[in-house]
Amino acid sequence: MRLRNVKGSRDTIAESKYVIKEDAPVKGRWHEIFGNDNPIHIEIGMGKGMFITKLAEQNPGINYVGIEKYSSVLVRAIEKREEREELTNLLFIRMDAENIEEMFDKNEVDYIYLNFSDPWPKDRHAKRRLTSVQFLARYINILAEDGGVTFKTDNVPLFDFSLEQAKEADWEIINYTRDLHHSEYAEGNVMTEYEKKFSEMGNPINRMVIKPKR
Ligand code: SAM
Repeated sequence: MRLRNVKGSRDTIAESKYVIKEDAPVKGRWHEIFGNDNPIHIEIGMGKGMFITKLAEQNPGINYVGIEKYSSVLVRAIEKREEREELTNLLFIRMDAENIEEMFDKNEVDYIYLNFSDPWPKDRHAKRRLTSVQFLARYINILAEDGGVTFKTDNVPLFDFSLEQAKEADWEIINYTRDLHHSEYAEGNVMTEYEKKFSEMGNPINRMVIKPKR
């Protein structure tokens, strides 16, 4: 994601009622925070939040938490959120997902979405990829018994790497497609900002659904 220093973004985030602070004692308390027992779904690296905001609108019975590392991007998701004050099921955290286990307890997350995650093309950065075995190990520590991960990308090397990492980590590959928009899984697909951009350029979208074997 191209980053621009958005003036005042840190202040906007600090003041926003929709952003959970990284040092807040939230681990194990998400149902209390949302005020209900609904399932909790998270998107890691949500960017400007188009996907998760749409899901929150479509599914009032699910609580959503969008995680984004950069303030300058997160402010765009906050702007969308502020236009939808009626939503009670969407919150954000500005953080590096490397520390995800500090924010969510064992079994606390019912589902994880990863969309167009940064490819980190250099081999020596492979463990920073959000589908690396290192990240999959973190996800196991927060996912509910039947929880899983859906990952979408137009980046073929990253998709191939992710399939391999899922196998290496002994996760079950529930299904995958290399052309989501022309597949049996196209119906009901909610597009992300990057998905819209890259599919309009003609790039096929890859998608996998994986689950830890328990
Ligand atoms: N998911 C959005 C989409 O599909 O339009 C944005 C995709 S963008 C290429 C990847 C986003 O993930 C960026 O906004 C980046 O800052 C965020 N990101 C990358 N690594 C992250 C990490 N370790 N923790 C949290 N966010 C991360």
